[in-house]
Amino acid sequence: MNPNIDPYLIIPDLTNELAKASLERYAKLGKNGKPQLHAKKAEWTILACILAVYCVNEKEYSIQVISLGTGLKCLPFSQLSQDGQLVHDSHAEVLARRGFIKYLLQHPDVFFDADGDGKLVSRPGYTFHMYVSQSPCGDASMSAIADVQTEESKASFHAGGKRKREQQPSSSPCIITQHIYANKRQKLLSSSTSTVTPPMLQFQRGRYDYGKLGILRTKPGRLDSEPSLCMSCSDKLARWNVLGIQSAMLSHIFHPIYLNSIVIGDLFEKNSLERALYGRLSTLKGLPSPYKLHRPAIKSTDIPFQYSKSALERTGNYSSYISTGTSVAWILGMEKAEVLGFGKKQGGRKGEDATSKTRSMLCQRALYQDFVNMNIKNQALVHQFLDSTYADCKEKAITYQQSKTMLLDQCFDAWVQTPRQYQEFNSTATPPNSST
Ligand SMILES: [Zn+2]
Repeated sequence: MNPNIDPYLIIPDLTNELAKASLERYAKLGKNGKPQLHAKKAEWTILACILAVYCVNEKEYSIQVISLGTGLKCLPFSQLSQDGQLVHDSHAEVLARRGFIKYLLQHPDVFFDADGDGKLVSRPGYTFHMYVSQSPCGDASMSAIADVQTEESKASFHAGGKRKREQQPSSSPCIITQHIYANKRQKLLSSSTSTVTPPMLQFQRGRYDYGKLGILRTKPGRLDSEPSLCMSCSDKLARWNVLGIQSAMLSHIFHPIYLNSIVIGDLFEKNSLERALYGRLSTLKGLPSPYKLHRPAIKSTDIPFQYSKSALERTGNYSSYISTGTSVAWILGMEKAEVLGFGKKQGGRKGEDATSKTRSMLCQRALYQDFVNMNIKNQALVHQFLDSTYADCKEKAITYQQSKTMLLDQCFDAWVQTPRQYQEFNSTATPPNSST
């Protein structure tokens, strides 16, 4: 149906070309939102891009960055937004993927065309790729991080854990375990019986117990920080290798879109990446077509990203390094990038909800509004959701949901889910000024 040739067989040094295109795109962005370098202290970040490669033969090919994201922060559970106007997860890979979704919402037919059944598939010759300046957080980078961790950083991490245990014993695991898929399913199945033992879950918070490999993890953070429900980027990438990067919402319009390759800068460990991103899903079976377990090519680049921790360390100019609190998001066609902090446009205050003015173009509500107003031939397809909630719209994506249930039941039953009430906003009503 889509006779794509492997662009790696045609385009010379495609791995580094993808990295270069991403780094050049980042270099073109203004200073705003980029890490700050002080006399002794340096801020560092992670850069991720989604790129389209067009390749027909040796002479006819092109590489284009579609979306870019930077950052490594996410919001703790208590700060989540119930009206969909905050970006809960601002890690680079997640913002790049959301930017890609935003681009599809605005330009569904640039890289895609209708298939026989009316859903959109990529035009012949196009493939999609991701570049990330360092191995994604979570399972893919656990052993590489253990290797480079200094005694000092280990001590500080565990000191945090000790404080946490002394102050509020087991309060944070509780918030997380309440929202684990298997525990919710268990509750549903046994609503009247109280004698059911909870399932043994292969799950850890952040970097705790980093010797344990192949398990689900929430996003890293010090153990004394407030917990987040966001799954690690390794876990999200693995999920996208089954469900695609297009989202449940856009699966109403697109067939699953899989990444052809993932190019990684620092902390590259091929075995860990293969295990984390698809190896641990190899037993998954029964997925309804066209969903499948996709195995992207995993590639390594040595081209440095100037604001990566490793590149800054190599300069020898600084004595301390901190991860930047800001994120940058850019999509093909934008002149200036959007700068985010605390899940909304730069300038917003920590802990406050966003308004229609301060929200990011990538928050769920903004994307849902784009969706119901999408300019496609079959307008009825999106207009049917004008009065629906975002949660309903996702639920009605039947084949996507079937695939997701199989993935969670068979391999990822310790997945931490955001409670449904955080997705029960619709595309039109103005949210009340809530102070939650
Ligand atoms: Zn991450």
